[in-house]
Amino acid sequence: MSFQWCARSCGRTIAGRHCIWHSAGMSRQKTKAASSAQKNPRPESAAAKKRRAAQILSALKKRYPQPRPGLEFKNPWELLVATVLSAQCTDARVNQVTPALFARWPDAKALAGASQEELESVIHSCGFFRSKAGNLISTAKIISADYDGQVPQSFEALLKLPGIARKTANVVLFAAFGQNEGLAVDTHVKRISQRLGLTDAKEPVGIERDLLELFPREEWGDLNHRLVAFGREVCQARKPACSSCELEPFCPRPDGAQA
Ligand code: SF4
Repeated sequence: MSFQWCARSCGRTIAGRHCIWHSAGMSRQKTKAASSAQKNPRPESAAAKKRRAAQILSALKKRYPQPRPGLEFKNPWELLVATVLSAQCTDARVNQVTPALFARWPDAKALAGASQEELESVIHSCGFFRSKAGNLISTAKIISADYDGQVPQSFEALLKLPGIARKTANVVLFAAFGQNEGLAVDTHVKRISQRLGLTDAKEPVGIERDLLELFPREEWGDLNHRLVAFGREVCQARKPACSSCELEPFCPRPDGAQA
């Protein structure tokens, strides 16, 4: 009688190419490799990510055909003031406060003459009221003196105003003047873009840079409003509604797990 030996030279006879022991070992190795591939999928290429971003944008456009900012305002000055007040505060709260503020001080020249204490008492419920009041009065003085009371329309000029950072400048330039200069990364934009795997960045500047590369410039401002609305209604911080989310097919973290 002639025997065939296991290809692993283990001294056992074969069942197929390997002995029973090494056949089982081989399939264990294959299973391990498959599960490791599942855990560590190949990184998404730049082109694939851009295609996915386009699908996300298209779904958001369907959901929000005419996106609107959450803050209420009648002119660029009112928007600038409301945006400063909205830091660490909800738009709904700011919308409750601004009617009294604009009735008392209707424009930049009026606010430039306001007393810090009186302004603080009006905006008290928006939080950080001392620094917000101080920044708003200083900004009102500069805009009155240097820009004849009109909000400047350039990113550089806005960034020089007290209390105005990239986020506020982006909001004002798009919503008041229709300029797509960047994306205002607030808590909703940050959370959603990380969950959707559109960015690995942790800080607003890096997140903004990644998003600007993925989406066409003419979409930036409206995309901002769409993401904020989507973050309030669907992809909420604590309880994302993944089971009814139209972005679920394009979302690598459908459970809302943090990046
Ligand atoms: S599937 Fe879930 S985590 Fe992903 S975008 Fe939708 S709600 Fe957010």
